[in-house]
Amino acid sequence: MKLSISTTFDAGNIEVINAENPENIQLKIRKDTHSDFLQWFYFRINGIKDLTCKMNIINAGDAAYPEGWENYQTKASYDRETWFQVPTKYTDGVLSMEFTPEYDSVYIAYFAPFSYEQHLDLVNNAQHSPICTLESIGQTIQGRPIDFLRIGDGDSKKKKLWVIARQHPGESMAEWFMLGLIDRLLDEEDSSSISLLNKANLYLVPNMNIDGSILGNLRVNAKGVNLNREWAEPSIENSPEVFYVKEKMKEIGMDFNLDVHGDEGLPYVFISGIEGIPSFDQKLSDLTDSFMKNWKSVNPDIQDEYGYPKNEPGAAKLNICSKNLGEEFQCLSQTLEMPFKQNENIPDPIFGWSSERSIKLGESLVNTLLGIVDKL
Ligand SMILES: [Zn+2]
Repeated sequence: MKLSISTTFDAGNIEVINAENPENIQLKIRKDTHSDFLQWFYFRINGIKDLTCKMNIINAGDAAYPEGWENYQTKASYDRETWFQVPTKYTDGVLSMEFTPEYDSVYIAYFAPFSYEQHLDLVNNAQHSPICTLESIGQTIQGRPIDFLRIGDGDSKKKKLWVIARQHPGESMAEWFMLGLIDRLLDEEDSSSISLLNKANLYLVPNMNIDGSILGNLRVNAKGVNLNREWAEPSIENSPEVFYVKEKMKEIGMDFNLDVHGDEGLPYVFISGIEGIPSFDQKLSDLTDSFMKNWKSVNPDIQDEYGYPKNEPGAAKLNICSKNLGEEFQCLSQTLEMPFKQNENIPDPIFGWSSERSIKLGESLVNTLLGIVDKL
C-alpha cells in the first residue's frame, strides 16, 4: 500500500516535503492564516501499518513557542477518540516522532482536536436542557455563528458568572474543559450544580475562535488577529468574535470571568490573575486567594507554585481579556492555562495531559465557584 498524508479535514495542518521513505518523512507546519505564528499540526497518514514510521517536522524551530517542544510528546489516534503519546524528540530545530502503527491509518496532532462538528453537537445538545438557552450573538469573519449559552433561569438578581474558551484555536484543551463544565452544569441530579444555579447564572462561550479552529491555526482568527489582544478596542472588521461577546457582557453584566487557554511551554495547570490592573484592591486580592484555595481543594491538578510572573501594580496590559474585564467590571477575572505536555505534579505516561483530564478540570470548576459565589 502506498503511503499518503492528508489534511483535508477540519483543523488539518501540515505540508508534506517528502514522504517517499516511511523512515524519513519530511514535514512542515503551515503558518496561521495571515500570520507568522505556527505550532498546531494535525494530519492523517495512510498505508503505514507495521512499518517503522519516522516523521520529522523540519520547521519546528520556527514555532511560536519552540520551548513547547522540550519534553513534549506527540499525540496519535487510530479512531480520533483515544489519543495516546508517541515517542518524540526535539533536536536542532526538528521535531521527530517515531513509532510503528498497528493499523493502516493513523491521525497525528499537537493535542487531541475538538472539531467544529463536536462544537455543534455540544451547543445543540445543551439547548435540549430546560435550563439552557443557545443564542447566536453575531458572526465570525467567515460568517459562522458565534454561539453563546446561558445556563440558569436568567434572574438578573443572581450572580453573573462568565466562562469563555479557545480564543487561541490551537488550544483545543480549552473546549474539552467547556464540555466537562457544561455537562456537569446541566446534570439535574448534581446537587453542586443545582446549588450553584440557585445563586448564579452561567454565561458561556465554548469556542471564541471558530474560524481559526477550522483553519487549523494556533493563535489567530481568519483575519490573522490574535483575539486575546483585542479587548480594549475590538472591531467588527478585525475581531467580531470579541466585539459581539463584549457587547453581550456589557448588556448582561459580570461578577466573575474565567478565560480558558492552553500553555505550550509550562508542564502545569495554573492561573494568571489581575494583580496588575489599576483597580486591584484588597477585595480582589482576597477573592483571587480564595478562588485558588477552593479550586486546589477540589482538584489537585490546579497549583500556584509554577506559572507566569505576577504583574507589578498598574503594569497589566488592558488589551488582554481577563485584565480588561477585571478592570471594566471590577470583578474577579482570571486566565486558566492547561499544559500541552503533562501536569508534572501528577503525570500520566501514556496519555500526558489529555482531553479527559481537561474535562474533569472543567467539571471541578462547579464546586470551586460554589465555594466563592456568595463573596463575588
Ligand atoms: Zn492561549
